[in-house]
Parts: sequence; structure tokens; C-alpha cells
Amino acid sequence: MAAFDWFWNAMGARTSKHQKQSAELSTKAAQRATELSNSSDSEVAELARRAISPNGTLSKPEDFLAALNIATQRTLQICPFEVQSQAVLRMLAGDVIQMATGEGKTLVGAMAATGYGLMGKHVHVITVNDYLARRDAQWMRPLVEFFGLTVGAITEEKTPAQRREAYSCDIVYGPINEIGFDVLRDQQVTKRDQAVQRFADIAIVDEADSVLVDEALVPLVLAGSQPGTAPTGHITHVVRHLREDLHFTTDEGRRNVFLTEKGAATVEAALGIDSLYDDAHVGTTLVQVNLALHARALLLRDVHYIVREGKVQLIDASRGRVADLQRWPDGLQAAVEAKEGLAVTEGGRILDTITLQALMRRYPKVCGMTGTAVEATDQLRQFYNLHVSVIERNKPLQRFDEADRIFATTAEKNAAIIAEIETLHAAGRPVLVGTHDVAESEDLAAALERRDIAVNVLNAKNDAEEAAIIAEAGDLGRVTVSTQMAGRGTDIKLGGASGHSREAVVASGGLAVIGTARHRTKRLDNQLRGRAGRQGDPGLSLFFVSLEDDVIATGGAGEQVVAQPEADGRIISKRISDFVEHCQRVTEGQLLEIHAQTWKYNQLLADQRDILDKRRTSLLDTAQAWEELSQLSPNRAAELHNLAVDTKIAAAREIMLYHLDNAWAEHLALMDDVRESIHLRAIARETPIDEYHRIAVREFKDLAQRAVDDAVKTFNTVLIDTAGAHLAAAGLRRPSATWTYMVSDNPLSGGNRLISGIGSIFR
Ligand code: ADP
Repeated sequence: MAAFDWFWNAMGARTSKHQKQSAELSTKAAQRATELSNSSDSEVAELARRAISPNGTLSKPEDFLAALNIATQRTLQICPFEVQSQAVLRMLAGDVIQMATGEGKTLVGAMAATGYGLMGKHVHVITVNDYLARRDAQWMRPLVEFFGLTVGAITEEKTPAQRREAYSCDIVYGPINEIGFDVLRDQQVTKRDQAVQRFADIAIVDEADSVLVDEALVPLVLAGSQPGTAPTGHITHVVRHLREDLHFTTDEGRRNVFLTEKGAATVEAALGIDSLYDDAHVGTTLVQVNLALHARALLLRDVHYIVREGKVQLIDASRGRVADLQRWPDGLQAAVEAKEGLAVTEGGRILDTITLQALMRRYPKVCGMTGTAVEATDQLRQFYNLHVSVIERNKPLQRFDEADRIFATTAEKNAAIIAEIETLHAAGRPVLVGTHDVAESEDLAAALERRDIAVNVLNAKNDAEEAAIIAEAGDLGRVTVSTQMAGRGTDIKLGGASGHSREAVVASGGLAVIGTARHRTKRLDNQLRGRAGRQGDPGLSLFFVSLEDDVIATGGAGEQVVAQPEADGRIISKRISDFVEHCQRVTEGQLLEIHAQTWKYNQLLADQRDILDKRRTSLLDTAQAWEELSQLSPNRAAELHNLAVDTKIAAAREIMLYHLDNAWAEHLALMDDVRESIHLRAIARETPIDEYHRIAVREFKDLAQRAVDDAVKTFNTVLIDTAGAHLAAAGLRRPSATWTYMVSDNPLSGGNRLISGIGSIFR
């Protein structure tokens, strides 16, 4: 073992030994591929199959890889680089690989998926959006089919029948949310053949850090049509007139808002109640006041959401764009709508919900690829037991990462950003600017346009359109201002998508990427930097920082910095640039802590969901429902002796599942309420997380019993005939319409602060 292997092992990064083995194998495979260049297609496919031993492991990895390489050349006309072959091997070993932007991760993912497919595994390749699922499945189809395997894609518009067909393929490309919604919908079926998914052995996750870390806590929600609850207009009105610092205060980083005593008294007087904190109001009025206050003080129009066509539309902070599918948890969504004077949308009854993290943990094996895994090593290991393998670049990096330019104030920083863009633009150099919110991007675009610089602003509504804009961002003289990580998954080629002005752009110095502020994590900074300097291209990355930036305010809370700015406000000081780094490390630490706390908090429900899953599966796939009901109610069972066995089993199943699903939805609603009010109980000296767990365990036991008791009652009374159990006629109707959404709970990108608030409650 090399001297520091123990250290890297402990850090969850792969040792040089593993890397070296993979590199040697890749070289051998390349030689082998040359030897085999005259073999027929079927011989190559056969070689791959023979390289797998009966227990499913690779007995001849170099043959296996050589076959994949030859197939790639013949079907896609691409000759995989050795670094790509290495990456494929590391993924077949179950790692998350880090490869820089433009190094060809799409192909690597497809080769690994094909490899797993050859080993007889069912693979889901998880993409960040619909467009990439469709594009990549299409692009990689010939490679997969070369080996007689099948590939399908899941996209939003597909019907259940089309989804079922796609899921039946060996390799399935799909966006994470659609795959998750299918899991949730499959949990509502009462006949096995209504389900669309089938078991998958492996998930290959594209942009793995984004899905597995940044968005891990985002819940996907399946809701049914039932009216929800909204805070009253009166409360909204009262809260609107409260004043910051007098009636309420916020904490550093504006994560939480608190009523002061005076604020509470004002609200109580306006609502005509004695105390917000007495039993009659704690679980109801106080929760509503808190929601209204949260909407009033912490959620800012044009930063956290925009209002368009009479609707509140959330902005996804990590991508800086409208998040169509997202809403806040019901109460908060309604509170924001009320604040904006909009019609309050009807909430639904949550039927089921799952976080992306819980979704990913359903797969027996997960691996993935990303441009920025190293900084997420700790989280990947801690939450998924995943290791990171760093793959070298195919060609050395030619990008120049300039030191931050630090300014005292935002105004001085903005002036400098504009001046820098003007200079770069005058030289014909393409510039990509990453901003943090929609308002900032619009202000910047307007300022540039006043200087006669044409700007493409990316607030894309459509992934395909967005990919097209981004693909052109490397063209001569192009200025693109983007609020998101600039079209993740899309390559920026110098000289435009067709490369027509490549030489001129190279001569100008290549793509320049400008960040208008440091992100809360270095990883997000690096994602932006990574858009420049692909495949040995020249390029530049540069971040501007002001001491008034969010990251500095949050991460440097309470620390005094004294610096002597230049005339233009710029601060050139090693001490200050160290301080900026320090602030970012602090915010990173805070986010990790929130993640860990929220994880604990979600875990219990995830475990309960597993138990429920198993119960549901046995009710769905066996005769257990009938056996249990006929045992608990033998007389009723005897009355049904004329019916066919299958009819009886199906009727019992329907009854049992109805009550099980109903009890689960009630459980979720209850635990949601508990979560909202748990910090109030903390006042009674209980540790909130323990208290939450105690309630969840007690209620879950109760749920199991109640689901059975209610099923017995229904079994005894409902009409059961050759058509089955007439549940609807007895008022036991499953929701006729369901819809799906993602709740914007994205503390890691600094988006929604609600969960962050919960995190801090548990500190
Ligand atoms: P990444 O996701 O790593 O940023 P992509 O998968 O989008 O990169 O690939 C970037 C570009 O490189 C694509 O146009 C792809 O066709 C091309 N590419 C990938 N592998 C190779 C290769 N071995 N040889 C030549 N071009 C390649």
C-alpha cells in the first residue's frame, strides 16, 4: 500500500492502485481492439459475452472493454479515448467518476450501461431532464443494439403503456423526477399489471453530485384531488403590516424568522385572541402566522419566485430558472399566493412522497458520473457509501483560472463586471456569465444592452431550446448571461455548435466564464468554471466577489474585516482572499450540517416507507389479503363461497390496499403537521428529533392496526359480487385525478429556506 492510501481510503476517494489497474487494462484493451479489428460484429459481441464469468463478474476485462470499444467505433463512429475506457471500468466497479466537462461522459455512461446490460442487469440511466433522456437514448441506441440489448427512454409525455414498454428494456434512460413519479404512481395500483416499472439492478446517475447531493432532499410528491387548507387573508393582511426588527427578526443568512414579543402582541390584538401560544392556537393560528411571516420576510419576489400570468412560479436556485414542477409545501405556497394577492390554488391531499435520496437508495447498486465529484466525496460516502474515481483529462487543461477580483461593495463589483465583459467582448471573445438569480441576470443584461452589447439571457423554459442557446455560447462575440449552471449536460463548442469560427475564437483566447459571486460551495463554482477549457481548448474563468455578497455575510458572520480598497473599490490583499475562501468553507459546512440533520429526520419515514412497500407488495402479488380477511371475519368469508377464488382475492386485495394507502396518506399528513409544530414542543424541553421519532413510531404502529381494522369493517359491509368489491359505492373512492410535483426543498443551493429552518431547529 502506498504511503497515503490509508488516508485516501478513509476519505472515500479511490487509491492510485485502483486507478493504475484501470489504466493498464485500458491500454491492453486498446491493443486487443486493434488485434480484433477484422472480427465480425457477431464475433465481437460473442467475445464480450465470453468475458463474463458465470457468477457475473468480469473474467477477461480487457476483452470485454475491447469489444465495447470496437462496437462504439462501428456503431457511433467514435473511438473511445483511453481515459474513457478507464472511466467505464471504474463505473463497472461501482464508483462515481469525475471527468471534466467535454470529456465525453455521455458515451462513458452508455458504455457502462451496456456493460451492465451484458452482465444481465437491468439498468436505469438517470438524466437531469427529459431532453437529455430522449437525446442520449437515441444517440446511444446503435451501441446497445449491437449486443442484442434493448434501450428505451422515459419522457414526460409518455402514456402508461409506453412507459411500461420502455421500462421493459434492458437499459432505460429517464429523468430523475419521471422515474420517481412512476415509483409513486406504482405504489397506488391495485393490480400488478397496472404498474409500469419493473425492478432495476443498477442506477447510473448523470450529474451525480447534483442528483445525489444537491437535490437529494427534494421530495417528489403525488397528490390527489382534495381541497387543502390555506392561511386566511386576514392573517396575511395583519402580517403584511409588521415591521422588521420591531415585530419580527431574522437570523443571519435569513433562514429563520421570529416574532418578537411586541410582534406577537400586535398579531394577537389584530386577530382578537388572547395568546398565539395557548393550546387553541399553537397548532393552527400560530402555524399560519409563521407561514405568512415566512412568505413575507424570507421569500422575495424575483429572487425566490416570480409572478407570471397570475401564478407564483418558483425559481430553482441551483439552476436559476423557473422550476415548473415545483411548489412549496402547501401552506407556504398558499401563503405566498396570498401575499401577492393571487387566487390561492387548491392544495391536494398528499398521497405519497419520496425524496430523491430515498429514491436512489432503492437501487441495489448506484454509480455515476459528474464533472465535480471530488468536493462531494464526503457526502457521497456518508449518504450512499459511494467512492469517487478521478479520471485524468484526455488533453491537458489550457484554461486559466484567474484569482478572484474582490471589491468592497456590490455597486463597485457590478461596475467592474460590466467593464470586464466590455473588454473581453471588444476582443471578440465569447463570454458566459453565471449569475445567481433572475433579477440580477436581467439587470446585468439591461446594463450591457445599454452599452450596445447584444446578450442572450438564459431563463429557459424548454430544455431543448436552452441546449441550443448554450451550444452557441462559444461563438465569436457571443455574450450569454445564464442564471443556471449553463445548460448542464450540453457541450459549449468554440466557434458555435458547428465550429465555423473556431480558429478566430481560439485566437481570441477561447471562452471566458465569469461568475458574479462565489456560490455557497466550491463545487458549484467549479461547475461554472468547467464550461470553459473543454478538450484542451484555451479558456478563462474568473469570479467577482464583493464583501456584501451573501456567501460572505453568511459565512463570515460576526467577523470584522478591515481592508484598504483601491480607488475603484478593488481590494488586493491575501488576507481578504483567504477570508473569502474561509467564508465559503463555513457555508459549505453549514449546508453539510443541514443535510445531515435533515437526513436523520427523513430517514425514519423512509424506513417506514420500506415496511409499507413490502406489505403492499405481498398484498398485491399474493393471496394474503384474502387469507387475512377471511381469518379475521370467517362468517363473511363463508357468505362469499359462491364467488370464484380469483374474484375473492382481488376484492380482498382492493379493500386492504385502499385502507393501507389511506392510512399512509393520513400518516404523512400528520407527520407533516408534527414537523411544522415540533419546534414549539421543543419548548417543553424535549429534543425535537427524539420527540418526532417517538411520535412517528407510535403513529406508524397505529396505522398498521387501523388499516387492518378498517379493512375488516369494509369487508363485512361492502357489496362484493362477481364484479369485485364496490368500494366507490360505499364512498371509498380513490382520488380520480392525481398530479405530481417536486417540492422546492433545496437548502444546498440556498433555495428554499424552510428546510434550512428545520435543520437549524434540530441543532
Ligand atoms: P460531457 O458530458 O463529459 O461534458 P459529452 O458527453 O457531452 O461531454 O461529450 C462532449 C462531446 O465530445 C460530444 O460532442 C461527443 O460526441 C464528443 N466525444 C465524446 N467522446 C469522444 C471521443 N472519444 N472522440 C471524439 N469525440 C468524442
